Amino acid sequence: MTSASTYQRLSDYLRECATLHAVGNVLGWDQETYMPSGGASSRAEHAALIARLHHERVSDPKLGELIAGCESELDVSQETIEAANVREARRDYDRRTKIPADLVSRLAEARSAAQHAWKDARTNNDFPAFRPHLDTVLGLTREMATCLADGGELYDALLDEYEPDAKAADIEAVFTPLRQRLSDLIKDIADNGTPPNTNVLHANIPAAKQEAFGRFVAESCGFSFERGRLDVTVHPFCEGVAPGDTRMTTRYREDSWTDALYGTMHEMGHGLYEQGLPLGERHGRAELPDQHGLPCGEAVSLGMHESQSRLWENAIGRSEAFWHFALPHAQRLMGEAFSDQTPPSLAAAVNTATPSLIRVEADEGTYNLHVMIRFELERALISGDLSTGDLSAAWNDRYKEFLGVDVPRDREGCLQDVHWSFGLIGYFPTYTLGNLHMAQLWRAIRRDLGDIDAQVARGEFAPLLSWLRTHIHQHGRRYSANELTKRATGEDLSPDPLVEYLESKLRPNYGLG
Ligand code: ZN
Repeated sequence: MTSASTYQRLSDYLRECATLHAVGNVLGWDQETYMPSGGASSRAEHAALIARLHHERVSDPKLGELIAGCESELDVSQETIEAANVREARRDYDRRTKIPADLVSRLAEARSAAQHAWKDARTNNDFPAFRPHLDTVLGLTREMATCLADGGELYDALLDEYEPDAKAADIEAVFTPLRQRLSDLIKDIADNGTPPNTNVLHANIPAAKQEAFGRFVAESCGFSFERGRLDVTVHPFCEGVAPGDTRMTTRYREDSWTDALYGTMHEMGHGLYEQGLPLGERHGRAELPDQHGLPCGEAVSLGMHESQSRLWENAIGRSEAFWHFALPHAQRLMGEAFSDQTPPSLAAAVNTATPSLIRVEADEGTYNLHVMIRFELERALISGDLSTGDLSAAWNDRYKEFLGVDVPRDREGCLQDVHWSFGLIGYFPTYTLGNLHMAQLWRAIRRDLGDIDAQVARGEFAPLLSWLRTHIHQHGRRYSANELTKRATGEDLSPDPLVEYLESKLRPNYGLG
């Protein structure tokens, strides 16, 4: 009796925190989409107040007492939803309360100064001007990691924010063989491959037509527009605002229709995950207990989130089976440019592997190499094995070694990403972890849903979505990302499925055996 009531009080408390958070999300979404620019300064005030109220509530000692009460009343090592919620609430609470307030404000100041310095340094190709700011951010980030660390490597404490329970040493054990095998594949393609015809990618398609096609695809895949929206922003994103309300955005470039299509399918993959979390009747899944506001109603990690977006964007959207389904609709909704295309010609055009300098413009074939280089460098920066004075040279060496490209200037090298100026360290590896989870899940999906290609070619996405709902979405944070993948696939996370997935589509596409 007591146990139920303490747990109930904890649930009620966390739901109120989630409600405040949702209010902040709506404000943020509005700011990025429809707010007139004149509203910027008052919106900053609204957002700051909501953020402060939320932070006060989620770090309030009252919450700590409720968690401690539940811990004394139930065994948190159990596999039940209740145990997982208490365990994860403890993790979140500890992370928020272990860092002293003055360190939080020093970090915020250093980050904001570093972001300004980074923008100028990138424009002027002037790494030395950014370097002292980077040193300050790194120093404070190390201090923060020291507060959070539980023995072991400092970097792990940073990683834990984005990828709970992941360890840098385990990631390295998967990344090292992956990097070599992908680097060999990319070099073989560059030296011996015949590139596919990609002319269709440059057809000029009006934004309104692209939008009609993107919406049609999202709806066909199972994204609910009664419980979600699609709007336009400079930087696309997807936000699970509240139960029954998932907002995604995209952008349209008339000279590059794949930008919007694959951007939309990517955010839609995030959106389908958010729409599949067990958020009770309001979410159309009345058979599961409502986890709104509780950890088991939240996505487990950035890597797992990214696995969902990449699965729809790449494994589905870039497949020949998808184009069997989508081509007639592309012809109907986007017109002329597609009249002489076939499913194989489109699948060939959208699967490339061209080494390049800029991560955000990299194709699926080369993307992970960009990420793994950053992981290795930022880990060495945190451990002290690499100084910022040697960063540029170390960056350029690795680009030469693994991608075979010469970095002409820091602007196209170690100054290209915003992450480090923000103090976002431990974030990069989640992109490749996402691809690793994706490929491993995809292999299991192909095994479990034998004729998945035929289903996709007929536009039947429900069995795939149902598989993802059952194995991934409905569990929220009940299991760690690695456990979820292991439960779904029967195996620990391994580099093999990703290498095989990329080899099996890229080699034939470049005429290699
Ligand atoms: Zn994403």
